[in-house]
Amino acid sequence: MLVYFSEVFKGHVPPYRHPEAPDRLDFLIEGAREAGADIKEPRMREDVWQLVESVHDRSYVELVRRLCRKGDVQIDGDTYVSAGTCDAAALAVSAVVDAVDRKETALVAARPPGHHAGFAGRALSAPSQGFCIFNTAAIGALYVGEGAAVVDIDVHHGNGTQEILYDRDLLYISTHQHPLTLYPGTGYPEEVGVGRGEGYNVNVPLPPRTGDDLYAKAVDEVVVPVLKQYGPRLIIISLGWDAHREDPLADMNLTLKSYLYVFDAVLRLQKPTIFLLEGGYNRGVIKRGTKALVRLVDAGEFAPGESQTSTDGHTAKRYEEVMREVKSHVGRYWRL
Ligand SMILES: [Zn+2]
Repeated sequence: MLVYFSEVFKGHVPPYRHPEAPDRLDFLIEGAREAGADIKEPRMREDVWQLVESVHDRSYVELVRRLCRKGDVQIDGDTYVSAGTCDAAALAVSAVVDAVDRKETALVAARPPGHHAGFAGRALSAPSQGFCIFNTAAIGALYVGEGAAVVDIDVHHGNGTQEILYDRDLLYISTHQHPLTLYPGTGYPEEVGVGRGEGYNVNVPLPPRTGDDLYAKAVDEVVVPVLKQYGPRLIIISLGWDAHREDPLADMNLTLKSYLYVFDAVLRLQKPTIFLLEGGYNRGVIKRGTKALVRLVDAGEFAPGESQTSTDGHTAKRYEEVMREVKSHVGRYWRL
């Protein structure tokens, strides 16, 4: 499996202790190397700032570039900019676009993450940009154009991606911890898109403590049927490892089994699939997960190395309620 990585991605450096720090990539690359991945240094594209401005407001892009020249500043309480942030974020965009051009399955091991970044930074009603600078997934999807699908499995809803794609007929599907219980507070089933985009925005919020058993059910009953009917040309997976039960920032009860389950379901569509790193703050999970992902892609090996979790009764009841809502909204546009 091709893995795009550069030391430049580690040049986005927090001014203080922060969960989204450069060492996340050391663990990722360790896992990728152990699985025998083919690690490739991405090249900066000459048109990268045009690509960034295909999605973001020019004044926002200028603000970020000004902050990079200053270095070590905060955009908001959660999100920082250092001297190396602009190069890192622009190289992330270059890597995704290169992966799209190659039309083969790849992992883009880049940071800063992007799925909370909207047109002009903070997206929808979120209190912050949630560690994100440019929305790499949305830039990639717009670059693909017709037939692009973004599957967002980060534990947080990708409010930035939703905002950018909301009126376009490009598919966005997100599974995430329920917005009543976690940042950014968006991602309800009734948010289905507008205009040409109506029906193309699919939110599957899951109650905290959902286990592997019910995550697989949501994948089978919503994610896979919608993807199959949409018929994607290329899929971008916004890959956050923070839905794992050991993640310090969220409350799900998933293991790597859920990750491999959804990866496998998407890979079975046999379309180029670009895995793009978003969140995930437990370093061991990042390493083990990346290793398992590369082995799945390269050898078809389904080896999560963790035993399946099941959902407790109270959570399962809440899950059924939410899924009824999901099916009533999403079912207006897709056969579920
Ligand atoms: Zn996240």
